[in-house]
Amino acid sequence: MERLGTGLLDLLDPDQKAAAQVTDGPVLIIAGPGTGKTRTLIQRLGHLIAECGVPAERCLAITFTRRAADEMRERLRFLLAAAQPEQRDAATGAGATVSTFHALGLSILREHPDRFGLTAGFRIADADEQLDAVGEAAGLPDDETAQARRLLRQLQEFRRNAGRLRADARGAAPTDGRPGSATAGAGDRPEPADDLTDLVKDYTAALRARDLVDLDELVRLPVQLLSKDEALVAAYRRRFTHVFVDEYQDVDDTQYALLRLLCPADGNLCAIGDPDQSIYSFRGAEVGYFLRFAEDFPTATVVRLTRNYRSTAPILAAAVQAIAPDTLVAGRSLAPARRGAINGARITRYSASSPADEADFVARTVDALVGGSSFHALDSGRVDSREHGPLGGVSFADIAVLYRTDAQAGPIIDALSRSGVPVQKRSHDRLLDRPGVAAIVDELRYATGIDGAIAARVRLTAQVLVGRGDRPDANLTDADIHTAVELLMPLAARCGADLETFLAELATGAEVDTWDPRADRVTLLTLHASKGLEFPVVFLVGCEDGLLPHRLPGRPPTDEQLAEERRLLFVGITRAKDRLYLSHAARRQRRGDGEPRPADASPFLAAIDHRLYDRIGDDPEPRRPQARQLRLI
Ligand code: ATP
Ligand code: MG
Repeated sequence: MERLGTGLLDLLDPDQKAAAQVTDGPVLIIAGPGTGKTRTLIQRLGHLIAECGVPAERCLAITFTRRAADEMRERLRFLLAAAQPEQRDAATGAGATVSTFHALGLSILREHPDRFGLTAGFRIADADEQLDAVGEAAGLPDDETAQARRLLRQLQEFRRNAGRLRADARGAAPTDGRPGSATAGAGDRPEPADDLTDLVKDYTAALRARDLVDLDELVRLPVQLLSKDEALVAAYRRRFTHVFVDEYQDVDDTQYALLRLLCPADGNLCAIGDPDQSIYSFRGAEVGYFLRFAEDFPTATVVRLTRNYRSTAPILAAAVQAIAPDTLVAGRSLAPARRGAINGARITRYSASSPADEADFVARTVDALVGGSSFHALDSGRVDSREHGPLGGVSFADIAVLYRTDAQAGPIIDALSRSGVPVQKRSHDRLLDRPGVAAIVDELRYATGIDGAIAARVRLTAQVLVGRGDRPDANLTDADIHTAVELLMPLAARCGADLETFLAELATGAEVDTWDPRADRVTLLTLHASKGLEFPVVFLVGCEDGLLPHRLPGRPPTDEQLAEERRLLFVGITRAKDRLYLSHAARRQRRGDGEPRPADASPFLAAIDHRLYDRIGDDPEPRRPQARQLRLI
């Protein structure tokens, strides 16, 4: 824990401090990874509450994952307790609202369920309940699940596009934040193929009849409500006078609309982010909102931070070179605050013969790093000290393995398990969509006669499921159920005996929310799930054309999609503090392939100066560039 000086802003550098000291009006903090954006946000929040007299209840901080929200709340409590020890109880910041967009939307709905024909006990629909509702709306027989699934996907897509088309029709001119004008969108959108308006109406009615809302409605419904009710908008604006949003580059249309309703154009909105880390467009994120912040909030103060406190100089240089061809931030400077590292720890690029070889490389290296004192003894084996350099004191918790697709985790987990390395694997998927979770939750909801702590009930339910032959989903394995119990325990423990909170958190949560930074395990994450995190040692595996950039058979990516893939690489590289390992395999079998196919290294790697890394492995010669290669520098 850091020691606090006399003021809360003393832990910031002069630029960060200047950003935190702008306490009136809109502020945009635009800065690269590791420049202390999140840290500045938390200090600014603490400063406002402890030193500027803003009541904690007037502060609303929005983050993208519940895990980030929990961490922010904890940091705030620590800061305030240390800053005002004499008022430890009074000033813990407990009154501040720190939440995700989903949780915020849910809490607004909870205050006005009657406005949507819901009772106070309404719930968020799980996947089966959504399918039931869409089946009823379309008049499908019960056994047409595949058709219902397809319709549901179309309906969700339609709803998303319809919102954008409406917004586009109003033009991209900046809105004034008044009710009714809050959904201006950005960019060209395709016309939806079919008009599903009636289906959406019937589906919504079917949900309401069951006292349900679906996940996409959690932000959409509050926007609908506020757009029609100026008095309510005014009430919320009085309640939240200071609003903070981290990772602003990833807001989507409805989240943006909600923000415009909650924050007047000259309001105290502090938006923080990095357009080059915008990686969620497949979920509707729209980086355009970040890029036009100064138009939307004309009195905004724009602050740039340029010192990176996270990574060694070579890692930072590699990241800057990797993003350069597609950067969205003109003239950005990103300088290492850490000294003396350029000739020290370097980046390692490993060319593997196969995914299994790549996984073995990860396992050997983890073993050597955590083995600590044995660096010099490694010279006899395939792993030698050049691969690592002395790092000292590395624990499993310091290490992360990042990859583009969840399927890549399999060989890595196998290899690490063989070496006895404990792991925790998390993706950005919705918790309810992970295999086994919905089955356990279903049992839990309908099982009568079990009471008490949710954690114990989850374990009991899982035992019942494992012991039972006829599972609701025949493909569900015992291993899935055990893993699900593990995806669920941290959440269950937090919720005590409160089943409704547990279910609501489950419905809005992502798997990465249950990641435990304190566990003595190696972390395995999708690149999407790694956003905002940092680790002393990072392995970025599968740096191959086809995986990064990701390509689906028969669907060539657009330029925009390719640029986003490059941003994923940028996010991945910049998670590393001290050590970075980039690896790729010469052959890989992907879903749908009969046998392993030759794979080329990611064309994105060509943008990184080869003098920044040591190249080892089976194929140290650069491969011949392919005709379908991307535009490279
Ligand atoms: P990202 O874009 O990846 O979310 P970020 O800009 O939010 O990154 P932070 O996570 O806030 O960056 O900070 C990165 C690291 O640098 C953290 O370990 C943080 O504690 C440290 N750091 C930030 N500012 C300072 C500072 N002024 N002095 C020392 N360390 C700092
Ligand atoms: Mg951050």
